[in-house]
Amino acid sequence: MSEKRYLFTPGPTPVPPEVLAAIAQPMVHHRGPDFRIVYERCLARLKQVFRTENEVLLYAASGTGPMESAVANLCSPGDRICVVAAGSFGNRWAAIGEAYGCEVDRLDYEWGETPFAEDLASRLAEREASVVLLTHSETSTGVVADVQRLVAAAKGAGAISVVDAVSSLGAVPLETDEWGVDVVVSGSQKALMTPPGLAVVSVSQAAWDARGTSPRFYFDWELTRKAQEIFDAAFTPAVSLVLGLDVALGMLLDRGLEAAFERHVRLGRACREGIKAMGLELFSPDDDTSAVVTSVRVPDPVDGTQFLLDVRDRMGITLAPGQGPLKGKVFRIGHIGYFDVFDITTALAGIELTMAEAGADIECGVAVTRALETYERAPA
Ligand code: PMP
Repeated sequence: MSEKRYLFTPGPTPVPPEVLAAIAQPMVHHRGPDFRIVYERCLARLKQVFRTENEVLLYAASGTGPMESAVANLCSPGDRICVVAAGSFGNRWAAIGEAYGCEVDRLDYEWGETPFAEDLASRLAEREASVVLLTHSETSTGVVADVQRLVAAAKGAGAISVVDAVSSLGAVPLETDEWGVDVVVSGSQKALMTPPGLAVVSVSQAAWDARGTSPRFYFDWELTRKAQEIFDAAFTPAVSLVLGLDVALGMLLDRGLEAAFERHVRLGRACREGIKAMGLELFSPDDDTSAVVTSVRVPDPVDGTQFLLDVRDRMGITLAPGQGPLKGKVFRIGHIGYFDVFDITTALAGIELTMAEAGADIECGVAVTRALETYERAPA
């Protein structure tokens, strides 16, 4: 095993040293002024990253926590809800809806397809739904959906829109208020450059007014909203992670969200051009929407599972496997958050060498240069 490790998965993602240092500070009490000042600032920064005036609720949870909170707060058993599913996380929405006793109407796509607002509009015209559950960046395939248009379709049909932005918030544009997204959920471990363990959800007035009767307690939005109003917390927060998130959000906002969005586009371009230059085939779309995750088809005669083990054991590089029906057929490179072009070139160099040794027909020695040129040349 190589001593130095490189984490190129679409979550968790690398964490900046400044954030790690904040997390390593001595513990403070969560109801004292030491924490309150950070909590208040962190909540204000979250609103800026969400681009919303709505309340953003902060939980100790993984990203699935606020997904569940959306269903628990918005739905009543028996409600008909619509899930747009084109991969693993769309399926998760459906599973949560079913667990809460909803009648789940699935608008299904093949894994890797891009959902269309027109399809959603005609489905909702055929069968009404009180809530529409959407995935912005489907991390399992690399597809980033046009949620602005999907949300407009949901709104047009009078439904509450909920967007899973776990792998997109802070990486690609998401205008919560301008696009009228009722509920946005996300997590700390992707473009927010913080370890896993914090989860966030923004809630519009329409969503507050549409709350249902499903049983809930920890994830009852009202408990956390009331506590946050006075910069208290309903439950013991993940204090150290909040200290880290506050620093990470400060870094993101100081440099500007637009700069982060542009960097992700350029990283995606560099990664795709490098992959194609060495002769591999993309699975995720070959355009600038693929700014979060690049999925690559595993070529013959390579064993996809063995390839990931080899690249990790020999070079210390962790890439992500395909999930569900894509297991063994694709691998994924995350370029989210604290990431630069040399992370891309490191990933490409490792992939190239390992693929060539595994017998793939690879053109060696061109991918890194192509990626660097693409990154440099990319217009704003
Ligand atoms: N949605 C998306 C799009 C994700 O990428 C993830 C995490 N991979 C989740 C939801 C679930 O988050 P968690 O695993 O933190 O519960």
